[in-house]
Parts: sequence; structure tokens; C-alpha cells
Amino acid sequence: MKYCTNLLFGLFFLPALLFGQAKKTTKSNDHHPSDRIEKLKAEAVAAVEANKVQAQQINDMLFSFAELGFQEEESFKYLTTLLEKEGFTVQKGVAGIPTAWIATWGSGKPLIAVGSDIDCIPKASQKPGVAYKDPIVEGAPGHGEGHNSGQALNIVAVLAVKKLMERDKIPGTLMLWPGVAEELVGTKAFYIRDGYFKNVDACIFTHVGNNLSVSWGDNGYNGLISARFNFEGQAAHAAGAPWRGRSALDAVELMNIGWNFRREHLELTQRSHYVISDGGDQPNVVPSKAAVWYYFRERTYPKIKKLFETGIKMAEGAALMTDTKFTYDILGSAWPVHTNRPIAAAMYENIKKVGLPTWSDDDQLLARASQIELQAPKVEGLATKLDSMGMPTSSAPVVMMGGQAMTPMGGGSDDIADISWSLPTIVLRYPSNIPGLPGHHWANAISMATPIAHKGIVYGAKAEAMTLLDLLLKPEIIKEAWAYYKDEQTKDIKYESLISSKEQPAIYLNKKIMAEFKPKLEPFYYNPSKYKTYLEQLGITYPTLRDDQRAAVKKEVEKSTAAKVSSSR
Ligand SMILES: [Zn+2]
Repeated sequence: MKYCTNLLFGLFFLPALLFGQAKKTTKSNDHHPSDRIEKLKAEAVAAVEANKVQAQQINDMLFSFAELGFQEEESFKYLTTLLEKEGFTVQKGVAGIPTAWIATWGSGKPLIAVGSDIDCIPKASQKPGVAYKDPIVEGAPGHGEGHNSGQALNIVAVLAVKKLMERDKIPGTLMLWPGVAEELVGTKAFYIRDGYFKNVDACIFTHVGNNLSVSWGDNGYNGLISARFNFEGQAAHAAGAPWRGRSALDAVELMNIGWNFRREHLELTQRSHYVISDGGDQPNVVPSKAAVWYYFRERTYPKIKKLFETGIKMAEGAALMTDTKFTYDILGSAWPVHTNRPIAAAMYENIKKVGLPTWSDDDQLLARASQIELQAPKVEGLATKLDSMGMPTSSAPVVMMGGQAMTPMGGGSDDIADISWSLPTIVLRYPSNIPGLPGHHWANAISMATPIAHKGIVYGAKAEAMTLLDLLLKPEIIKEAWAYYKDEQTKDIKYESLISSKEQPAIYLNKKIMAEFKPKLEPFYYNPSKYKTYLEQLGITYPTLRDDQRAAVKKEVEKSTAAKVSSSR
């Protein structure tokens, strides 16, 4: 199926590729704008294909840096240097965040922003192409969310389009930017608050996924407030004079106990979780300081606020019980994601033309072995059929037993939401990861510097380049996008930031962890001048499986083939 799609796609564009440069005067419809756009799209697709080594190198490089949120120093240097070389003007230290930047090229309208996250996950270090846990550096951060891939996709797509804009003098400005510290939902609300997207006409965001896909409307995400509660008591000799102490750690524990009891009586849509980020120093000193860090997630802005206020009450109660004091810091925030219909529709048309990559037997073997290893719900390998366009998740209240109207369930969060509520935005997902893995986990790094990631990026870049041309050359799409934004998306719901003017980005987060692991990761930074790929540099046979994994995949494939044969009888 997929092979056919690609073949048709190739046949469709072959004439355009061959004759794209030739001046035509004979047929009148050659001057039709859509004909011109299709030719330009074919050229952009060819340029992306020709530049796939660069995509692979950017991807593998960021994978090897493995930097946690707010500490993306190497990624910052590497990407900004690359973009300056390509002729972009780069503004650095955006919104007071040292590792944030905005790179622009071109002039005039439309101004189109293209972004993707860059940070990784704690303790997710993993050798790519290996279907079982095998860290590059034990305990180190790693790209267990695949945020090493999106900038590669965006840069290759934007460079392909930039070349055409230069040649044909197409007006417009392209703006590349990173989602710094997305795992901490730590920056995008600040970009918006500080006006960095004020003049942007449309935004395409890319995020790794298991298929080449796009959605519109309410994406079914939760929004959130990330806040740390800092308790302060009094130190004392824990054995000699414990009565003189007031334990901040007791307060943290009581707050958590209170929250876990209250949890039963919260709406089913909420998701909340915490880590004790400071539990004191040593047992013989009553902890005078302790802190607990919560994510409070809900489906709507008022509910996020309410949930957070409940959290503050728990902290008050805990402070009362322990005779301690507390303050809190908001470390991050996000709205629930809502993406734009007209731009998603344009993107989906291009996705259909691009289709899915042709996976090799090795790609599928790695995927299946990883799925078995991680007990994925299905052992299905990589996607071979395009998803349909994602439709809005209903946010209309559902009436529960007892008569209470409740918003349907939500899940994770992404602060791209704050941009998506400020201007027409879509999220393009591309098939660089293996379906059915746990997420925020070392296993989600397995594919991220292998041919699976590399192909997924190139296919995503093709769809993105084509859509950028649509946005540049069909002003009606941006007009419709703003009409949707104004008349539908924000008709009843107005964006109000979850951060105030006094919050500052929590740029100190992850400093200690990176100080520990950066020197250990440095020897493993990718060197593309010596090695074609990161797999080659690490000396990894692709794919690497244990014998029992090979046998398990073989059994699984035989089982599904037998099932297919019997069902076709
Ligand atoms: Zn992510």
C-alpha cells in the first residue's frame, strides 16, 4: 500500500521535476497559480530528499548532546551556528532564557514560525538501535521523548523553501525557534507573554510521533500549572533536642498525604503528580527546608486554576500542622492544546501526497523487538498506513451518574498550547518513533538515532516544506486560519496566561544534573566528520537484539501471518 503511494507520488511529480526549470509558453494553464505551486512543491520535496544527510546529522548530533531542559547549551551553540551560516539572523537569550533563540530570514509578510522542542528526559540514556536497556552513560539523561529530531526536520524543510524564495523572489519571513525545556513546560508561555510571537501569522510546530499526522481543534490534552512548594521550619539536633525542631519535611509529607486523600474527590479529568525535590540533608538534622514539586493538570483554564488553588490549601494545612511556613514558585504552565483547522487541512493534503516511509526489515525487527521487550499493547511494528486527520476531542461536558456534568478525560500537556491560543498553530507529527512504548522512558530513545528516525524526519520535512509553500503563496489559507482562530476557537474562550508578569523562567532547573553528566556525555558527542552516522560512531550493529528477542519476534510474525491466512480463507 505504502509503496504504491510513494510510487504514485513519484510519478505525479516526475514531470514537474524534469521540466520544472523549463520556461513554458504553450499551455495557458501553466500560468495558473496552483500549477506553479505544485511545481515549487516538487522542487522543495526534491531539495529535502537531496539534503537528507544534513537532517540525519542534526538529528544524531542533538541525540548525542542529551541535554535536559534549560541546560541545552551544546544544542544552542550547534543550532545557532548552523543557522547563522545559512544566512539567518539569530536573536539569542530570548525571554531571558540563555538557551532560547529565534532565527529569522526573509522579509515582509507572511511571517511564519516553525518550531520544535530540544530537551530530553532524566535517566533515559540509551544506545540507539538496541532493543533492550543499554545506556550510553548509566544514569544520564537521554532523548526518551525524541526531541532531538524536530529541529532537523524543520531546518531541512525551511532551507529547501528558502532556496526557492531566494530564486523566485517570494516574499515572506521564516522564523525558526526551539521549544526549550518543554518537559518542564517552562518557556512557551514566556515567549508569548514577552511578545516574541506578536507579528507571527502562522506557526507550524513539529513533534515526534508514530505516524505522519496532523489534528485540529481541541487535541484532548490537559493544561497545567507546575509549581514547587518550599517549606521552611527550624533545624535542631534530631535526637538531642527534637522538640526544638520544626520539620519542613513533615510538612511536605503531610501535604502529599492530604493531596492523596483529596485526590479521590477531584474531577476525573485531573492528573496530578509530584516529586520531593528537597527532602532535607541528613537524618540527624531536623530538616529546616524541604520542597515538593507538583504538576496540576486539568482540561480547561478555570479548572487548572481551581486545582492549583486546592494544592495551595493543602500546603497551608500542612504548614499549620507542622508550624512551618511555605512559599510557592510557578515553574511552568501550559494551556490545553487547540490547533487550527484550515492550516491542518492544508497540511493533511500534503501528508497524503508524501505518504509513509518504506521501512526496511531491520527497522521493523527493531520496532517489534522493542514492543515485545516493553510489553506494548500490540506488537504491530512501525506504521504502514497513514492516519486520518485528527478530529477535535469533544470538550462538551458529559453527564455522569449523580447528574454532574464533566469534561471528557485529558492526558499529557505541551506548552505549544500557549502559542496555539495566541495565533493559528498546528502540530505536525512524524513517524520517527516506535508505537506502543511507555513515553518519557529510555525505550523511546531506541529509534531516535536510527534509520527509523531519519526516514521519519525526511518525510515530515517534505510535508512541512509543501505546507510552507502553501502558506507563502496562498494568502487565503492564512486568512481562513485567522477567521477560524477568531470566530471559532476564541469565540467563547479567551486566552489568559497561567503565569503573571512577575514569574521568571526557571532557568536554574537541571543545572546540577547536567553538571554531573555533561563531562561523562562529552566523549560520546557525535562527530560527523569522522562517522557517517551516530550508530557507526558507537559501533552498533543495526538492529541489536538478544537471541531470545529474535526468537520472540519470529514467533510473533508467524502468529500474525497465520492469523491473516486463516482470516482470508
Ligand atoms: Zn514532547
